[in-house]
Amino acid sequence: MARAESASPVVITDALLVTQDPSRRVLLGDVRVETGRFTHVGPGAPREGATVVDGHGFAVVPGFVNAHTHVAMAPLRGIADDRELGGFLETLFAVDARRTEEDVEAGARAGIAEMLLSGTTSFLDLYYFEDAVARAVESLGIRGFLGWAVLDAELTTQKGVPVDNARHFIERWKDHPLVSPLVAPQGVYVCGKETWLRSREVAEGAGSLVHYHLSETRREVHEHETKTGRRPVVWLEEIGFLGPRSVAAHAVWLTGAEIELLARQGVGIAHCASSNLKLASGGVAPIVELRAAGATVGLGTDSVASNNSLSMLREMHLAGLVQKNHRWDATALSAQELLDFATIDGARILGRATDLGSLEVGKRADFSLFRLDHPSLLPARPEAIVSHLAYSASDEAIDSVYVAGVPVVRHRILRNGDWGTIRRDGEAAAEKLWSARPK
Ligand SMILES: [Zn+2]
Repeated sequence: MARAESASPVVITDALLVTQDPSRRVLLGDVRVETGRFTHVGPGAPREGATVVDGHGFAVVPGFVNAHTHVAMAPLRGIADDRELGGFLETLFAVDARRTEEDVEAGARAGIAEMLLSGTTSFLDLYYFEDAVARAVESLGIRGFLGWAVLDAELTTQKGVPVDNARHFIERWKDHPLVSPLVAPQGVYVCGKETWLRSREVAEGAGSLVHYHLSETRREVHEHETKTGRRPVVWLEEIGFLGPRSVAAHAVWLTGAEIELLARQGVGIAHCASSNLKLASGGVAPIVELRAAGATVGLGTDSVASNNSLSMLREMHLAGLVQKNHRWDATALSAQELLDFATIDGARILGRATDLGSLEVGKRADFSLFRLDHPSLLPARPEAIVSHLAYSASDEAIDSVYVAGVPVVRHRILRNGDWGTIRRDGEAAAEKLWSARPK
């Protein structure tokens, strides 16, 4: 089982530190980690009693925060490509109906392995059987913000009332050092007023987040407006659901008034550029306007059925290019802003900016070591490293990953699990699930 914090101090020496601190400093120096937190960031870290890792030739980068995913869907990569949303969902619903807790765990382990190997140290998930995902988080040593999917009781295949299942899930995992359990209403198309309000009540009672899909497609917005007379954001405001400590995934189809409303209510936005493009949600999420209104934005990969990768490096690159091109403005979203989305702003929307998302004394030591001699990082100049991270760095440049000061990847090898076993179990789950595809 993964330890939540390292037993002995670790010092990484002589590395390029991409701090993401309030001044966004990039400097040469050391980091020292004790009991899972940074105790020194900068030149001249004390080495007493520590395991010393030579960081020369490496960049230390805060661990990425993937702000929206369904990690257990790893065995479903490629299962419904190049389909309209209707056909895509038909395939996924047919396959989902066959899922067992056991294959959800196998899928989660495969997805988490992929995330760790691409520098993600925290992720926000939305799915069912989240206990299985939590076990995978615990064993592989990543940080999981795990949302139990909730929908109206008459629409679910879950045993019992989904919102009660979410509450029980939160109770079971709330004290775990790596798991932050939460409630996740799926979207306005399967959740009525009662479900939204009970979800909010459960979150407030537990002091946890709420995570949900919001205004992903024009059709979703149109159908909700036809049914209720209100667009989803306005409706959620009117029923008293919107508020801080909540993260909305997608947020593509918004009016100016809705953008203002989301910002004013402190709703965090998980922007999923790849997923929106691949499923042809149309339009482009108004990220620049959301930021201008004061909303905080993170990046999500969504599932590998709609991305088809969990790489946050890819997501930064694409999110930046799409906004620039769509607006005919090469200055829209800088490399620094994109890296902020993937690190400190991701931590902020999770309500954890005070202890995650940057290299700062007192914060939890979640970070990656990037090999500066990798071709995708040439020229390895301090003034170019943020640009490289946003636009060119390859996942293969990531040598090591630490969560709470514990190495969970070293020299591209998982430390808490055997990839051969994880892969075999993931393939076995895929074998069963792919046979359930509608013809
Ligand atoms: Zn999603």
